[in-house]
Amino acid sequence: MNLSYWEHNTWLHNIDYAVIGSGIVGLSCALSLRKEFPKSKIVVFEKGMLPSGASTKNAGFACFGSVSEILEDLKSHSEAEVVELVKKRVAGLELLKKTLGEQQLHYFQHGGYELFSQSDAHLYENCIENISYINNLLKPVFLDKKDVFSIKNDSFGFKNVQKQLIFNRFEGQLDTGQMMLGLIKKASKEDILVLNSAEITSFRPENEQIWLKMNNSEEFSAKKVFIATNGFAKQFMKDEDVTPARAQVLVTKPIKGLHLKGTFHLDKGYYYFRNIGDRVLFGGGRNLDFKTEETTQLGLTELVQNRLEAILATTILPNQPFEIETRWSGIMGVGRQKKPIVKKVAPNVYCGVRLGGMGVAIGSSVGQQLAKFATE
Ligand SMILES: Cc1cc2nc3c(=O)[nH]c(=O)nc-3n(C[C@H](O)[C@H](O)[C@H](O)COP(=O)(O)OP(=O)(O)OC[C@H]3O[C@@H](n4cnc5c(N)ncnc54)[C@H](O)[C@@H]3O)c2cc1C
Repeated sequence: MNLSYWEHNTWLHNIDYAVIGSGIVGLSCALSLRKEFPKSKIVVFEKGMLPSGASTKNAGFACFGSVSEILEDLKSHSEAEVVELVKKRVAGLELLKKTLGEQQLHYFQHGGYELFSQSDAHLYENCIENISYINNLLKPVFLDKKDVFSIKNDSFGFKNVQKQLIFNRFEGQLDTGQMMLGLIKKASKEDILVLNSAEITSFRPENEQIWLKMNNSEEFSAKKVFIATNGFAKQFMKDEDVTPARAQVLVTKPIKGLHLKGTFHLDKGYYYFRNIGDRVLFGGGRNLDFKTEETTQLGLTELVQNRLEAILATTILPNQPFEIETRWSGIMGVGRQKKPIVKKVAPNVYCGVRLGGMGVAIGSSVGQQLAKFATE
């Protein structure tokens, strides 16, 4: 399908900065570019009708790591690296709140809890033993210098879990849809063009410009290109350590008398749940079949969905009848290292990808960091 002269001239001609992907990173990158270059033409290309990776599909945890996750990270990262990771997540959340405001985000700091299944006594004991070590490690991250983690008795009526939970007083939750709507509206206000159903299939350098091709075969050029496609990054960067990881979620219908409030992590973060008003969102189970979930295709499997329902019935809501209202999946980008990849990949081409399960926390600052390459 040929675009008209007008279409081409208005949307695709003389682009200064082309951003591929309209998730939290792509939009944050575009907004940072606008701050630096008030008169430039910035266009964001998104393959889906809506952002179609993880940013509109996540659980909305504003978190920076549970005790078991931090202990796990310490096996492959130094103490200083782990503190730096947590610092970046906390700073990223502050930046997100500053950009959109807590009201737009529907942000609530109800705190977060880590639960341990009864069969995981070893992990439970190890985490409890290490709370003060982790609290000391994280002292430099928080201004008030008070402990981050503490022990709480289970007041939620969970079953098949250890009676004590680890509480994180700083953890919050937000409305993922409102977060992304806020970013999209802000982009529009800042004269950033966001084109949907506009998949970039390839790009090549020529005459100090980057020529991009769209799924409708249209070709156009930009001075600089920013890749923010996270779990889909291998399409353009075959050699980078970033692998797609699908995550599946379900949400219940409203539950009468639900007193579960906050964000909850179970089984080293492989399962996570929270309240959305009087509903429960529950996700995870990727570890049941890593191979099948290593895909860029959205979709649900019986194995994961049945397990989610079973844990919901036996562990999370053992005494409360519930019905499932809806289910969906999203695609994350993961790798051996937790750090995102933010770098130059070719002359005038840069990437900010591999956000793992922490994109709500670090997405804004990764986008900001990515945009800095424009002044290179
Ligand atoms: C179910 C689920 C639950 C999660 N829960 C949480 C949570 O509670 N807290 C948290 O911090 N993180 C969570 N995450 C992770 C978080 O959502 C991600 O880290 C974050 O959204 C990544 O943002 P991004 O902009 O890098 O990628 P994405 O949001 O995936 O954006 C990339 C975009 O690029 C587009 N794209 C890809 N290829 C092309 C192309 N060729 N042309 C044009 N467009 C293209 C995609 O459609 C997509 O919209 C969760 C993820 C999932 C899937």
